[in-house]
Amino acid sequence: MTTATHPTTRRLSLLKPTGHPTLGNLLGALRPMAAGQREADCFFGIADLHALTVPHDPAGVRGLTRELATLLLATGLDESTLFVQSRVPAHTQLAYLLECTAYTGELNRMIQFKEKGRGVSSTRVSLYTYPALMAADILLYRPEQVPVGDDQRQHVELTRDLALRFNNTYGQVFTVPEITTPASGARVMDLADPRTKMGKSVTDGGGVIHLLDPPDVVRRKVARAVTDSETGAGAVRADRQAKPGVTNLLDILLACGGSAEGIATYGALKKAVTDAVVAELEPIQARYADLAADASHVSAVFAAGAARCREVTAPVLAAAEAAIGLG
Ligand code: AMP
Repeated sequence: MTTATHPTTRRLSLLKPTGHPTLGNLLGALRPMAAGQREADCFFGIADLHALTVPHDPAGVRGLTRELATLLLATGLDESTLFVQSRVPAHTQLAYLLECTAYTGELNRMIQFKEKGRGVSSTRVSLYTYPALMAADILLYRPEQVPVGDDQRQHVELTRDLALRFNNTYGQVFTVPEITTPASGARVMDLADPRTKMGKSVTDGGGVIHLLDPPDVVRRKVARAVTDSETGAGAVRADRQAKPGVTNLLDILLACGGSAEGIATYGALKKAVTDAVVAELEPIQARYADLAADASHVSAVFAAGAARCREVTAPVLAAAEAAIGLG
């Protein structure tokens, strides 16, 4: 049985420090993660190693890692084990053993590798082997379930295949996780291009709200949000196909605790969305400012988190090493 104080199930999620976190990250991931913290023993990691698979700026990765670490605490994830992936060396150690388990044919089939490599003259070897590292990220924690969105499903299926093959070849080491649908948060679309997801790595055409955007920036971005040319009573309504921009604004309004009741014009809708988003971000930004003023607290939380991860993952890595013939 799962209780608030002694949860038996483990939940794990890794977020890449590849851009400034967005309202989409908050409503689609961070908020549901915070809400479910007591249902399971949660591990939330910052996947800094994954950020090195594409051309990167070292100071940028360090800065975004710091920002994301502070934001995880500012959004209330303080009841979970928080860590930075590279501070837990077992991730790369196990990844190598899984590279020795995977076949090139399997990695060649990974859609994300093909997509990220398309039109690029050269790709890093680490982008190719990334699925082995991701499998290690998961298998080290022996979670029974891995909630995963469509974009990562193929990688988690590979994780299951590698775990099964390793277990069958070398002995029972890994728990083979079940793939589940993530706790559903809102899916937030880009304000300037409402048929595309609001993403932190997407080229920002002004339609991405970042969690640290000040109120006037939020106001400007919402004011410019794409709607449609319908006017008159009834124009403010949800219709994902015909009115993606207005529907997205309504989704954001509701997800941020607002109400569309009595709103008859796009101007009024945008004002309500701005107010709701600003109210949603305000306490997060205030906590962020406090935490950023004394960086030692964030560092201490992440140091303790990494120490717990090293403890939890050590027996799994040791068992895998022993099984495969090392030591
Ligand atoms: P990413 O920023 O793409 O690495 O995603 C990190 C997490 O945020 C994942 O759980 C995503 O599903 C979630 N996420 C990212 N963008 C959005 C969005 N626009 N709407 C809802 N969830 C999102």
